[in-house]
Amino acid sequence: MTGAPMIGFGSGSEGQTCSRANCSNPAGWNINWRNPRIHGPERVKIWLACDEHRDYLHDYLEARDFPVVVTALDEPLDRLPDVTTDVSSSVIAPETALP
Ligand SMILES: [Zn+2]
Repeated sequence: MTGAPMIGFGSGSEGQTCSRANCSNPAGWNINWRNPRIHGPERVKIWLACDEHRDYLHDYLEARDFPVVVTALDEPLDRLPDVTTDVSSSVIAPETALP
């Protein structure tokens, strides 16, 4: 099969920059996300982020309840989890009374 369109960045070109508007810093991170209302779990959208905007873009998507996973630039993600499960939700430990 010939002429199949390739989705990607071509032949490993350098100089990818942050996806944040008005930011031209070199990207160091993939922000992998999808909109579960219109995308299936196999669909992964990728933004690029610099160190400065990695958290900003992550929080932007997380605030919309989108599954989002941050990986290093050279670590593409095949699939996103169905739901972002935040393990940092507070766990209330039972009080232990020491004698
Ligand atoms: Zn940036």
